[in-house]
Amino acid sequence: MRIALFGDIHANLEALEAVLADASEQGVTDYVCMGDVVGYNADPAACLEIVRAMDCPTVKGNHDEDASGNHSLDSMNPVAAAALEWTRHQLTDEQRQWLTRLRMVRQVSDFTVVHSTLDQPAHWNYVTNRFDAMSNFSYQFTQVCFHGHTHVPRVYVKSDRVREVPAESVAVEDGSKYFINIGSVGQPRDGDNRACYVIYDLDHNVIVFRRVEYDIEKTQAKILAAGLPEMLAERIMEGR
Ligand code: ZN
Repeated sequence: MRIALFGDIHANLEALEAVLADASEQGVTDYVCMGDVVGYNADPAACLEIVRAMDCPTVKGNHDEDASGNHSLDSMNPVAAAALEWTRHQLTDEQRQWLTRLRMVRQVSDFTVVHSTLDQPAHWNYVTNRFDAMSNFSYQFTQVCFHGHTHVPRVYVKSDRVREVPAESVAVEDGSKYFINIGSVGQPRDGDNRACYVIYDLDHNVIVFRRVEYDIEKTQAKILAAGLPEMLAERIMEGR
């Protein structure tokens, strides 16, 4: 069984299509979506329909929650809020309901998935260091847990203590727990502008990060044509 875990798509259709093509070439048999299907970029409805048609386990991201609600976005950063306001108008009521019904945490096979953290999944906390990761491990009852949210691939390992190791191939070993940020399909922020996702090979107990090139200029043109903030087009080229 080879499972692709992908998330933080953020309405980037070109990146999503490139990732799914790569996963298929890599012999992936199953898919799990880590949320934030929409927000920021210009193809929320198309990305939502692709993920929905895949009918794979999907957890809710903060942008999915904000795009499907009617609450005020005033307290958000203005660029994200402008994109979410626009996104709300791009989705049908039925598509918004699909987002509303997504669950915060899911167990798939013998691992767990959550968009932000297991300790307070609805608070959308960011995990940026091993101390943040420790709070998650207290609530992690499976050996492996995947998450997203920061758009930066990271690997935290808990054995006698919690440490961070490079986000490269991970061999899952008995006696250790793993909390893994799978990076972002549609808006990477680690300085590498290629789409990011992971493949978990359950037969060999190996987790591999994949980076996939896509037509960034096409995505940028759509962002600008939609009247979304220019900064959103700039950042996907920079990978920040
Ligand atoms: Zn996100």
